[in-house]
Amino acid sequence: MSGRSTWTRSRSSVSVRGVSDGAREPDDTDEEPRGPRVTIVKGSPWTITGPRREKWSSDEFVAANAVDIRQVGDPVLHSPAHRPRLARGELESLIARLFASMVAARGIGIAAPQIGVPLRICIVDVDEAGIVAIEPEVEWVSEDLDETSEGCLSVRGLYGMLERPVAARLGAVDPAGKRFTIEGVELGAQCMLHETDHLEGTLYVDLLRSRVDDLFPVEPPGPGEEPRPVSGQHRQELEPSV
Ligand SMILES: [Zn+2]
Repeated sequence: MSGRSTWTRSRSSVSVRGVSDGAREPDDTDEEPRGPRVTIVKGSPWTITGPRREKWSSDEFVAANAVDIRQVGDPVLHSPAHRPRLARGELESLIARLFASMVAARGIGIAAPQIGVPLRICIVDVDEAGIVAIEPEVEWVSEDLDETSEGCLSVRGLYGMLERPVAARLGAVDPAGKRFTIEGVELGAQCMLHETDHLEGTLYVDLLRSRVDDLFPVEPPGPGEEPRPVSGQHRQELEPSV
């Protein structure tokens, strides 16, 4: 697939880049250091970082809160989600389940429909941003596009080659109803767009030009290798799935 990417950096050497709820990305050895790919530009979103992240990533917490990720074909993934009208406590417990399920699946982003909850809530976790976005709306996307691999926790075992804007801006509210704005570049933008697509009932496979030419199986692990989850699964070796 080399030559198809418009990235100026050496992305073609990466077999699976994965979107937002996919795997964590591989360590690039030939690129300059990069800054965070998700940046808060206005307001102060509720984030799952610091001590909260530590607690919510613990085996005990994940075992108690993670649920199965719904897979392509499940109706909840293919219908627009609704505006959440939950009490604060219910909202926080839903966010805890969402985060724990993402951690269990080794994703870098997740949307509530993926755990069977048809509400407009997602987590953008590229570079461990841990941003909880309620009723997110895409406010702007760059004209520059990039074709990269994209995976999804709800489409196991496959990744697709898809063009996405290189940068995007998202407005959303936090659990207290306060507005904030974040911007993403590269995988950060990809994740934000992938997760908001989920809230419209759209999966990345729906956006491919061709499911024959642009969709690929994730290669099975070699001897001694860990299994490679597809799109949003491997935190270390692959880019995250969302
Ligand atoms: Zn996804």
